[in-house]
Parts: sequence; structure tokens; C-alpha cells
Amino acid sequence: MQQPPHPRLSALLFAAVCVAGARPVAAAPQGGDGTAANHPGAAVEHLIDQAALRGMVRFLADDLLEGRGVGTRGDRLARRYIATQMQLFGLLPGAKDGWEQPVALRGITAKVTTPLTVVSASGDTLAFQAPRDYTAEAGHPGEKSSVDGEVVFVGYGISAPEQRWDDFKGVDVRGKVLLVMNNDPAGDPKLFAGPKRLYYGRWSYKFEEAARRGAAACVVIHTDASAGYPFHVIQNSHGREDFWLPFGKDEPTMAVRSWCSEDAARRIVALAGHDLDKLRAAAEHRDFRPVPLGVRAKLATDNRSREIESANVVGKLEGSDPKLRDEAVVITAHFDHLGIREPKNGDEIYNGALDNASGCAAMLALARACGALPKAPKRTLLFVAVTAEESGLLGSLYFARHPTIPRKQIVANYNLDSINIWGMTRDIAMVGHGKNSLTALAEAVARRRGRRLVPNPDVSLGLFYRSDHFSFARNGIPSAYFKAGNDFVENAHGKALVKNAYTRTRYHQPNDEYSPKWDLRGAVEDTRLLLECLLTTADADAPPRWAPGDEFERLR
Ligand SMILES: [Zn+2]
Repeated sequence: MQQPPHPRLSALLFAAVCVAGARPVAAAPQGGDGTAANHPGAAVEHLIDQAALRGMVRFLADDLLEGRGVGTRGDRLARRYIATQMQLFGLLPGAKDGWEQPVALRGITAKVTTPLTVVSASGDTLAFQAPRDYTAEAGHPGEKSSVDGEVVFVGYGISAPEQRWDDFKGVDVRGKVLLVMNNDPAGDPKLFAGPKRLYYGRWSYKFEEAARRGAAACVVIHTDASAGYPFHVIQNSHGREDFWLPFGKDEPTMAVRSWCSEDAARRIVALAGHDLDKLRAAAEHRDFRPVPLGVRAKLATDNRSREIESANVVGKLEGSDPKLRDEAVVITAHFDHLGIREPKNGDEIYNGALDNASGCAAMLALARACGALPKAPKRTLLFVAVTAEESGLLGSLYFARHPTIPRKQIVANYNLDSINIWGMTRDIAMVGHGKNSLTALAEAVARRRGRRLVPNPDVSLGLFYRSDHFSFARNGIPSAYFKAGNDFVENAHGKALVKNAYTRTRYHQPNDEYSPKWDLRGAVEDTRLLLECLLTTADADAPPRWAPGDEFERLR
């Protein structure tokens, strides 16, 4: 998944899939126990087994691939490997000129030249240090970003007509430095889906809205609670190269995108004679108006920019129905990770074994099973290993904007980002539970398999906006994203502790490495469940739909 700066938190973590269900307990670890019945994938689901998952993760997460940083040799090696596997499993090349859909990216590395300084009307000055107190990245492709503007506190920085919510109230913020809260208002269950995070709550929305309004810079106030991850995740990306799809001619841009610590925000508003807690309390209400703080912020960066070639890998299994084969279900998993970065405990390779070599392996295991079906499903299946997820969901966004078949003919997306490596669970979680009809479909499949579909418990983290399925959703395509369940069949308490520790100790760290100790029995069950969902969707008479009133319904 995605996260703050660039690394999308997407990864937040764990699993896409989880575990075993009812019969899980009885299921043989290597599968193949006849999960029963006449569902469309029954004859081939034994091909989704631990050996396949382990072998593919082990290769993709190997040090040899150097963390699969975008545009690197590891990126190319991963793509060749994935295409090779797809071919071996009986897929056809699904891009215009073969297996790869080229994705051009712009990489921008910003170096702070003027640290963030804030000056009051009376000349009192505060100086901040990056990345201790704040981070800065360029929001445009120019060689320099230079900002000197009045700081305006804009609350959540949200303009949402359908919620009758507007934090800007028509105030002109052109050239200003916006100080903005992360997340969205959570106090009123009737507003912004209560504690659930909508897209308005994402940092990327804040920057997009600030750029649309002509702000010079936007500074997001970090809190662990509002972000869903610690500040070090953001600090880690300071000074790194950021990646963009090529800038459009009329695309609004902004000189600097920044995050600051809560403490830094507190000091900035205090210099202006305000209290951060009071400002934030006021921002919880609909009648909030932007608060010009009467202090100026200066900051500047030098930007180095380059073009990078990467690609999505696309494999196709042609549908068997003469009418429905023009439509497709798209399965995605990102293959990129963070590459080589500063060493931690002597290790500089960010292997991304769970995030997301594991999701790629699960996607390829699905391809393996589907390729062996006696008869293909009615609709075409497109297996897309997407690039640059960690850089902002860019590979999937490019695919959703430039699909290899017309967008209206893509009926659904299933996304895999991190699988269950902790053991069998009775439940399997869905991110974005209830947003579209894939929820009911998955619920029925889970029940039939003796499992239980549950909403992903971390609704406040906004996971729906942090992995590649979001690129499809924001282009109107109903998408589904599963995570590992939490109701472990064995040693429930211990497993839950280990699972929950992952985000803190391994997420986006060099020690996200493959281990033979991974317990993949749950992942096998989850991936088989996903196979059934996928084939059921591909064979259904009617395509999936958004729930009435969902934030993405109107885009379909
Ligand atoms: Zn990630």
C-alpha cells in the first residue's frame, strides 16, 4: 500500500489474503484436499499450493533483485521473471507489443537549500530541521522550488460538496503555505462515513486540492493516529527520489509538498499566538474557516529530474464466451519495492518479501490455476503485475488510464498486496467492505468454503486508498482487496501479536525478507478463495456494481 510521502502505505501491511476457513482446520497444508464442490475452479485449485508460493516469493525477494526499485536492474529482472512464469502457465501476452506495457515515469529528487523557517510579524524566527521536524519534496518538475508565503491553517483542507463541507469557504490561498490536518472529520457518523477514512482523508488528496487552489506549498501535520503509521515512515522518504507519471499540460502543480511533526506544527502556530489543539477542535465543525496565521514560511529545494522507463507486465487468458470475452476481470499485484536505501543493521536491500513479492506470487499461482482450467471462464482474465506502486500507485494508475482493452469493458479488479504468512484463520478481511457488489459475492464464496468474510478492522487507516485497486476504483471500476484475517485457528493470541508487530518492525524495512518459517497454509486457503471469487465474477451474467451512493459510483 501506499503511504505518505511516496511510499504508499500501501503496504500497510499484511495480507491480502488469508486463511483457511472452516475447513481450514482440516485442510492439508499443501492443499488438494478437495475443497469441495462444483465451483468453477475446483479442479485446479490444488495448483495453488505452498510450494508455488514459496518458490516465487523466494526468487522475487532475493537479494539478487536488490529490492526491485523502480527503473533498476532488479525491476527488469522481476518483469522478465513474471512474464516467463505467465507464459509457462499458459497465458498470452496481454500488452500491445508483448508482455510489457511501458510506463514512463519522471523521477524528481529534491534537496533542501533553504530549511523551513517561520518568521512572525515582529521578526521572531523559528528554524526547523529536515527530516527531524519536517520533510519536503518537489510538487512540480522545475529545477527549483522556492516558497515564501503566509501560513494559513486550513483544517482538513477538504472541499466536498456532496457532504456540504468546505474548509476553504472561498478564501483565496494562491501563493500561501497551507498547514493542513491529515484524515477527515470523524466525529459525526453521518459525515465522511464516520471513523472510516474516505479519499478526502488521504494526504494525496490534500496535496491535489492545495495544488488545484494555487497554493505554493502544503504542509500536512503528521500524527501517528491520523496517518496510521509512525513519523519515521515519512522521514525515511525525505530526500529520496519521487516518481510521477508525466505531467499533463494543464495539470495543477505546487512548489513543495511537505509533512511536519505534530511538535513542529504546535510551535509554528504558537509563534502566531494560536493553540494547535484549539485550531484543530474548530476544524471539526462545518463552519470552520481558514485561519491566516500572520507568520511567513520560507523553504526551498533544488530539484533533479530524470525520466525512467519501467513497465507493467500483462498476461491474458482469453474468455470462452463469444459475447462476454470482450469484457475482462483484472487481477493486479505490484512487483516493485523500495530498492536499495540507507542500511539498517548492516542491510541496505529492502527486499519487500511480504510487500509485495508475496502478492505477486499469489497472483502467479492464480494464473497457474486458471491456465490449467479445462475451459476458460466466459470473460477474459488479465493478470497485471504493476510497477511503481510504492511511488504512488503509478503503474496501476497508468494501466487504469490507458488499459489494454477499453476501460468500460473492465468489469472488476481484484488486487493482491501482501498475503497471510502467519497461519490459518477462519475469517478473511475485505478492505472497502460494502463498497460494491464484490462484497456480497465474496461473502457467499467464503461461506460456501466454511470461511467468514469480515470488514477489515482498520477502517481508519484508509487502506482502500493505499494499494493498486484504488487506481481502478477512482476510474470507476469496482475493485476488491482482501487482507489476512485475525481469527487464527491455532495459537490465536500469539499469532495476532506477531502479525500486529509486522507494521512496526518490518514494514518498509530491509528485514521484510522471506523466511522458510512463514506459515503459508492460510495464504493457500485465501488464494483459493480468491480463485473462486475471480472465476465467479468472470462467469456471472451481470458485471459487478458499486453500492448506491458510494463515492465512486458516479465514475462508472
Ligand atoms: Zn509498500
